[in-house]
Amino acid sequence: MKSIKFLDLNNQYKIIQNEISNSIQKVFDNSSYIMGPDVNDFENNFAKYTGVNYCIGVGNGTDALEIAIQSLNIKNDDEVITQANTFVATCLGVTYNNAKLVLVDSDDNFMIKIDDIEKNITSKTKAIIVVHLYGHMCDMDKIITLCKKYNLYLIEDCAQAHGAIYKNKKAGSFGDVSCFSFYPGKNLGAYGDGGAICCNDVNIYENIKKIRNLGSVTKYYHEIIGRNSRLDTIQASILNVKLKYLDGWNKKRQEHANLYNELLCDNVNITLHKNNVSEPVWHLFVIRIKERNELKKYLEFNGIQTGVHYPIPIHKLECYSKEFEGMTFENTENDSNEILSLPMYPELSSEEIEYVCEKINKFYDITI
Ligand SMILES: *Cc1c(COP(=O)(O)O)cnc(C)c1O
Repeated sequence: MKSIKFLDLNNQYKIIQNEISNSIQKVFDNSSYIMGPDVNDFENNFAKYTGVNYCIGVGNGTDALEIAIQSLNIKNDDEVITQANTFVATCLGVTYNNAKLVLVDSDDNFMIKIDDIEKNITSKTKAIIVVHLYGHMCDMDKIITLCKKYNLYLIEDCAQAHGAIYKNKKAGSFGDVSCFSFYPGKNLGAYGDGGAICCNDVNIYENIKKIRNLGSVTKYYHEIIGRNSRLDTIQASILNVKLKYLDGWNKKRQEHANLYNELLCDNVNITLHKNNVSEPVWHLFVIRIKERNELKKYLEFNGIQTGVHYPIPIHKLECYSKEFEGMTFENTENDSNEILSLPMYPELSSEEIEYVCEKINKFYDITI
């Protein structure tokens, strides 16, 4: 029987093994383990790639969101709007800064339901966090119009969207601040934790640089209460190697998505993830089906690993359930029972995708 992993990091590592070893060796040879040229190079390279003035490496994507919100001076009773169908880290930065999290439902394509945002804006609203979930982007023009109309900051959670494009501009180039994660499984992943914040404003940039490095620019001169959340130098050296491959890897993901879509589009039981406005980078390939749990089991039985992103909406998570007691978000809740993430990574072969689709279609021949 075939065995198809949901994610296989080893395959990709083997291809770039020598380059990675050399880059890590250089960090050891230079004995510059904290910051140094590798972090600097990566920050410059990633700013250029994303199309922004500044990039600041940080410890991970969760820290990126927390620091980004702090850098905009959002705190206490300030309100921040985001979508109910996201990874918990999107929300933690709001909560950690003691601001109030305001959730909005998702639309039919897993993006924030833009029509529901306006009625949630109050005099205390300071920012909107858009999540480019699964590597797709929402209608950024509409979001930017809203932010301008109500004088709100725009924060992009780009943890799943390195390289995604909306109207010729990359994810991360729209927001006042945008946050990236380099968790190993992301489109651009380190071999450990890593994250970054992008921005265009020099004052925000300098503020973020201080916050991530103990509140100081000059060693031992601490101007503000900062923290230690620097991008690890070894991870930066790895990311410098991998960034060169990102566009090629994303292209592979797009080809895989095209093949999945082609092989599944005739199956009336399946709702595919449409992309109407952006050029997505398919961090995940998510389908919607009524028989989610049964299909998941059937695929597992046939050697195919799948995932669910995410099984519990933010307002139902134990850590947030009290805060959002009694609230419902219909699409988000329905989706959480119907979504299934199929195997997706650049090194996947056409044969493997064909096998997955054959089994999915067979499941429906048997059960329906
Ligand atoms: C992965 C992820 C994060 C957090 O990144 P970490 O580096 O794991 O802390 C934030 N938001 C979204 C949408 C993510 O997928």
